[in-house]
Amino acid sequence: APRTVLISGCSSGIGLELAVQLAHDHRQRYQVVATMRDLGKKGTLEAAAGEALGQTLTVAQLDVCSDESVAQCLSCIQGGEVDVLVNNAGVGLVGPLEGLSLAAMQNVFDTNFFGAVRLVRAVLPGMKRRRKGHIVVVSSVMGLQGVVFNEAYAASKFALEGFFESLAVQLLQFNIFITLVEPGPVVTDFEGKLLEQVSTAEFPDTDPDTLHYFRDFYLPASRELFRSVGQSPQDVAQVIVKVISLARPPLRRQTNARYAPLAALKAVDPSGSLYVHTTHCLLFRWTRLLNLGLRCLACGCLRFRIWPR
Ligand code: NAD
Repeated sequence: APRTVLISGCSSGIGLELAVQLAHDHRQRYQVVATMRDLGKKGTLEAAAGEALGQTLTVAQLDVCSDESVAQCLSCIQGGEVDVLVNNAGVGLVGPLEGLSLAAMQNVFDTNFFGAVRLVRAVLPGMKRRRKGHIVVVSSVMGLQGVVFNEAYAASKFALEGFFESLAVQLLQFNIFITLVEPGPVVTDFEGKLLEQVSTAEFPDTDPDTLHYFRDFYLPASRELFRSVGQSPQDVAQVIVKVISLARPPLRRQTNARYAPLAALKAVDPSGSLYVHTTHCLLFRWTRLLNLGLRCLACGCLRFRIWPR
């Protein structure tokens, strides 16, 4: 029988791509419940699903921040059984700490962290009874290392990493696997919308130096990072499809090999200084030099230039 896969946040990005790829599995191994908070946005998903709609893919309403919505969604699933849960829904938050409200930071935790916890609590009793299941969590490389001006978002992903690594130990007793998927930059609406909003945002109570570092160093560097090493949501979804098909899925799976050197900095120096100083240099020293038009020493190209052209 096909495995029932419930995915949160399928109106766009990684969630949408994953739902469509699983629904189009040529061996029809999956029955996909593609959920979203606002069913008014289901048009793109339905168009991409094509003939799979109503066959191997159904669309359902689910707000990960609401107990009632989670209960309602699960009650509509045939047999109420979820074999694979993909916690994908998430929101970002970028900017100088002093200029962001606590309410905005709490919303990040409510969605990214407690949203996943809420769903897992709902499906876990069934998985335990059946002694099988797979919980996939779309974390981030920011769940492994902090990134400047992304403090609350990174903290929410660190929280996921600690929570699910802890749970994974107990769940092995029940033959239930957990996988934390850790993409680097992914070119979706997510970062695009976010960077657009913050480039014009006011950030009250923030001193001019901090604003200068944010606007003139972080924002251009971030745009360049997405432009140069950003992955497509299709590529990330492909990695998740592969992980879901494994009999013994791993606890962690990074999706972008070009990030491996940065992750290694933390492993090489457990004190954390190497990572903090390297990323500080990358942002504040190299960006300044490169913005002056310094060329690549190897070939003279402007490949490493960080300022937008
Ligand atoms: P996206 O904005 O296209 O997708 C996020 C989805 O979550 C949206 O469809 C949004 O409507 C949904 N969502 C937000 N709040 C919700 C709620 N309360 N209930 C249900 N759905 C809700 O962006 P994406 O890049 O596809 O993001 C998917 C996941 O990937 C997120 O968890 C994000 O943190 C993670 N991620 C993204 C990147 C990136 O660079 N885009 C990198 C690493 C990890």
